Amino acid sequence: MKEKDIIKKLATTAKAEKEELISILASEDKDTSDLLFASARDTRTRFFGDKIFAYGFVYFSTYCRNNCNFCYFRRDNEHTIRYRKDSEEVLAIAKELADSGVNLIDLTLGEDPSLHKEGFASMLDLVDEIHDRINLPVMISPGVISDELIEEFARRNAEFYALYQETYNRQLFKKLRVHQDFDERMHAKIKARECGMFIEEGIMTGLGETEEDIADALLAMAKVKPSQIRVMTFVPQSGTPMAEMEPQDHDMELKIIALMRLLYPKALIPASLDVEGIEGLESRINAGCNVVTSIIPPTSGLAGVAQSTMDVNEGYRTVAGITPRLNALGLRVAEDDEYKRWMKEAW
Ligand code: SF4
Repeated sequence: MKEKDIIKKLATTAKAEKEELISILASEDKDTSDLLFASARDTRTRFFGDKIFAYGFVYFSTYCRNNCNFCYFRRDNEHTIRYRKDSEEVLAIAKELADSGVNLIDLTLGEDPSLHKEGFASMLDLVDEIHDRINLPVMISPGVISDELIEEFARRNAEFYALYQETYNRQLFKKLRVHQDFDERMHAKIKARECGMFIEEGIMTGLGETEEDIADALLAMAKVKPSQIRVMTFVPQSGTPMAEMEPQDHDMELKIIALMRLLYPKALIPASLDVEGIEGLESRINAGCNVVTSIIPPTSGLAGVAQSTMDVNEGYRTVAGITPRLNALGLRVAEDDEYKRWMKEAW
């Protein structure tokens, strides 16, 4: 089947064979990519109208026990910024984010050894406090945790559990997430979903993966029943074993976003401000994204993940910063009750 026919089939059935996905990923034809992005936008409009959800990002501990080769915050990186915000600071930041109009608070952290040591007691309390005092849904990204802790976070009503596999190629996984277990990571997501949490799955591109790897990942991620799926282009990080890798342009990321939209039409798909800052927003929205993530208050002293400082102090990573850009595309930041309605209908 020709690429354009594959895209038309995807837009009507949300289904494609692995070989069909590979042929779209490999295509360099501009008409094909224009059709791909236009179909992705139409699909988003069909399911979400003009609404774009906005997530506040609180990277509250940059300590990590792991040594992922691609990550700036890996344990052995001596260049990195290390901090751990206490609960009052996090709550103040979350309140500021809520007042600015975000729809969810994304509590992100490395696999902080001190939190593991205390059994995540302070983070569990933080989830309660955000619900009580700020009344917004919470996403948690504590990394791989025990079944008992997943059950406890679910009991505290942490709505979303984000845990990115980054690749479904087990050999590549081993090289990226050194000394970590592929199946354990998958299990945590499946367990969280069984406990009633929404799951965010994610992959990264530009790490040496093939088009076949990407197609495999796009199909295999259905197994964790994700409600949100993301792709990010790898940004080489100083002080890491992958610092000298040649950065990839963002074309592949945009194609993957569009394929995600067509394969998972009802999914939330983030345009992260953490890759190219505000300048990368329009292309990702035009590829079919319907969430803006990594919104950070300008004076909070918080870091991003892939781009730890880009656009943070300038204030572009804010709801006020993204609103004119979205409005120019005929879109708008959703109201909180619209996000809560999505949660009700999506489960
Ligand atoms: S990707 Fe996550 S788990 Fe891996 S080193 Fe970075 S913060 Fe730690």
